[in-house]
Amino acid sequence: MKFVKAKGIVLKDINFEESSKVLTILTAEIGKIQALSKNCRRTLSPLSAVSQPLIYSEFVFTKAKDIYSISSASVIESFFDLTQNVDLTIYSSYLIELVDNFIELEQKNEDVLRLLLNSLYMLKKGAEPETICRIFEIKILIFTGFFPQFTQCVKCHKSSLNQIFFSFKNAGVVCPECKEEDDVKISLETVEKILIIAATDLKKLSKIKIDKELNTILKNLMITYIKLVLQKDVRILDFFRFIK
Ligand SMILES: [Zn+2]
Repeated sequence: MKFVKAKGIVLKDINFEESSKVLTILTAEIGKIQALSKNCRRTLSPLSAVSQPLIYSEFVFTKAKDIYSISSASVIESFFDLTQNVDLTIYSSYLIELVDNFIELEQKNEDVLRLLLNSLYMLKKGAEPETICRIFEIKILIFTGFFPQFTQCVKCHKSSLNQIFFSFKNAGVVCPECKEEDDVKISLETVEKILIIAATDLKKLSKIKIDKELNTILKNLMITYIKLVLQKDVRILDFFRFIK
């Protein structure tokens, strides 16, 4: 048996046996893992506080036969307060769900972990939740390698476009000549906002403002595209599209 130290945030918890849980944790050091939190549902268990979604902790795991068990843990930052508010619960679940769907078990992605922590922190500090979600969608696509081509026609590579269409099938913008039937028209303003968000450092994202009209356009575009990328039925995407 060996000990493994890692910092991570709990994405999901599932009750296991009488008094334990199996947690899905996204860690910096060993990627996304599942770990057994033994007896954490017992009263006074030292693991009860760290064994809930939205808690970021420093863990010590034991690993035996490919199964991680939490040996000890201490909370670094808790975002659990977000669950005290119905809207913020929905927004934070959405972010968690995206991370859980984009990152496979054993997969490591420190950028996505940083993005999640940063976004939850901004939500906690009262940032506009819809804006946080739009930024999150764009950044997670970048950090996982699925960001569409927005700077030139994805087919003929022409870069100065007087009319812009978005092709979900080809993952990028197309010019009027290359446009196909299913491609949708998007404004230059939309493309510019996406590129600004894409280029902005995580630490400076609080300066980004998105008005209501543009938010609706971005939200539809991103959710439709993410559904295609993930190629699985992520129920929260459909649910989320219709709130607000
Ligand atoms: Zn073209």
